[in-house]
Amino acid sequence: MQIQSRSKRTGARFYDSLSAREFESKLEIPSGKDPTQNAWLTITLNYSLNFADSKNRVPGLVVTDGSGNFFAKPSNPTAKAMPIKDWDFKSQTEFARKFAKAESFWNHKFLLITPQDYDAFDFTSFGGPGWICRPNVICLFRLGSGGSPNHLKLNVVRAEGFFRSDQFTYDDGDVNDKTVWHELGHSLDQLHIRALLGDPFCTTPANINHNICYTEPKGVKPNIQGTGTGLIPQNAKAWHELIAQHTETSQSKWRVSMNTKVPPRKLQMGFQVRGVMPKNW
Ligand SMILES: [Zn+2]
Repeated sequence: MQIQSRSKRTGARFYDSLSAREFESKLEIPSGKDPTQNAWLTITLNYSLNFADSKNRVPGLVVTDGSGNFFAKPSNPTAKAMPIKDWDFKSQTEFARKFAKAESFWNHKFLLITPQDYDAFDFTSFGGPGWICRPNVICLFRLGSGGSPNHLKLNVVRAEGFFRSDQFTYDDGDVNDKTVWHELGHSLDQLHIRALLGDPFCTTPANINHNICYTEPKGVKPNIQGTGTGLIPQNAKAWHELIAQHTETSQSKWRVSMNTKVPPRKLQMGFQVRGVMPKNW
């Protein structure tokens, strides 16, 4: 499956695919020593970088004209092959560093508010009068270099001129703008902004390439899965789905907050009636 996107850097279009919908997740509950500590839901996406050039001729990607010139061939047959430069240690290191740093765009941006009738995270805090605390869930994102299993095997080229990237093939410039954040959004199982907002036209496989699906509806600010770099609660899609799986509850009971500092709810222990907790709090 391929979808069309737009590079901010060049204004040109490129294709990115959504097939690498794999990552792993871990839910961790606080020990209870700190009454202000929320729980953690961490998504880890393991990846590897393969630097393709004339010395590392990735089949189907690196082609030659037979005169010593090398080109990168985009996966989309209508896109143009572009001349490439060889990598050196410095350019590889710089790409690897910037790619790893892109993790921070998706890390710690959302909080899941624990439902009123879900008590499995509750802990007791015995400072002062004593409290029952109900942690919320912080959404974390980790890019794992070389981790196993490998969820995302990237080939990277140094194209001279505009190269049409896809989810598995990056150009070295893609880490210099929002492209990498957008692509990671796809790796986090997100389509484009209109699909995220539930527009049935844009969730239909035949239409996900459509320009309108990148365009935020009136009242929605430029979004990373649209024309900008903003985030809204719908961008928490993967965490929101995963918390329901981890806790075997209905996803609709969990509210996504963009305020990641909402502390655990606290109920004073005296509030219990003959040792019985109120049903919802
Ligand atoms: Zn896209």
